[in-house]
Amino acid sequence: MRLKGDPSTSRAMNRRLILNLLRADGPRSRADIAIATGLSRAAVTFVIADLLSENFLIEGETRVGNSGRRPIPLDINYAGRLVVGVQLRVGAIACVLTDLATTPIASLQLPLPDHRPETVGKVAAEASRRLLAKVVAPNAGITGIGLAVPGIVDTASGVCRRCHRFDWTDVPIGAILADEVRVPVWVDDDTNAFALSQQLFGPARNRKTVGALAIGAGVSCAVIVEGSVHHGANGAAGKLGHITVDPEGPMCECGRRGCLQTLFSEPALVQRWRERRSLGPEMTRHDMLAAAQAGDADAIGLLAEAGEGIGRLLGDFCNIVDPEVIVVGGEAVVFGDLLFDPMRAALKRFVLWAPPPIQPDWTDNSWARGAAALATQQLFDFEAVSGNVRAG
Ligand SMILES: [Zn+2]
Repeated sequence: MRLKGDPSTSRAMNRRLILNLLRADGPRSRADIAIATGLSRAAVTFVIADLLSENFLIEGETRVGNSGRRPIPLDINYAGRLVVGVQLRVGAIACVLTDLATTPIASLQLPLPDHRPETVGKVAAEASRRLLAKVVAPNAGITGIGLAVPGIVDTASGVCRRCHRFDWTDVPIGAILADEVRVPVWVDDDTNAFALSQQLFGPARNRKTVGALAIGAGVSCAVIVEGSVHHGANGAAGKLGHITVDPEGPMCECGRRGCLQTLFSEPALVQRWRERRSLGPEMTRHDMLAAAQAGDADAIGLLAEAGEGIGRLLGDFCNIVDPEVIVVGGEAVVFGDLLFDPMRAALKRFVLWAPPPIQPDWTDNSWARGAAALATQQLFDFEAVSGNVRAG
């Protein structure tokens, strides 16, 4: 998105205009920034002086070529600030320390004895402290903590309205964690957080309309419209996994029967494979993948069924949202084309117009990196909400 500045644009908006340009397009000179943003040279010089003094930007070397001195390129000082991303999982807190581009620096996982909000807050704070202790970067400040939870989240207040998986209702988890730490805390649904990281620094970086499909403990497809994550009226948008595919099907964590994710979430798929093959609970998705690669017809058939089932609903999703690309994350990404080829075929069959490419995100820590993006978005988003901060 190319935003145009004008003389009435506030200083804060000019900052974000310039930061977003550098994020999306890479290093630029002051002159190029002025042309691309429509800001005056004087305004660009003024804002950049501020950003340099605050350590948000770095200035490249003066390059002297055959044609004389070249303009000095400016870039975001991604290493200048650190953020922590925390993902609430079943039985564990996954935590990653990243730079401003959500590039992981260190990570760790701590077990959760239970899923009560107070326990989650304490373990998340402990995980953050231990991660920071690993890193020797005395000049690097912590911008904040992003917390990703599976559920319906009011991002403005940091309140989780409902999380079926852990039976939370109206839990102020942002404030609970902020009480344990000394930096702002941002909270969102985990798939929305994944989508945000894709939009800020992933393949969705220069796209306006994107689906961010996550197949993990549940199934969700977050929606990026006009370059922003679409939360809906209640923070409940993108819950693809709760579309009913069989009203008589298995009970879902949401209390309804036959939701898509009761059949095709990663745990559901692995469990159905174990049942068909009479295997024990120690068998994981990696065993299922190895079996499928070795020709196990049950594993191959289940992955094809999942790809087709999800792909069919992605066709419906595309008929409503019309995305340029669908990026995919979550644990089930390991199944690769055994899952994605049938998904692409079904999408092609059921979508009205051109099927968008399905692009897996193979990077590690994609969930926790998404959480970290919650804490970096304030730099780039004109309408980002304030984080939760410690009371008193
Ligand atoms: Zn459901």
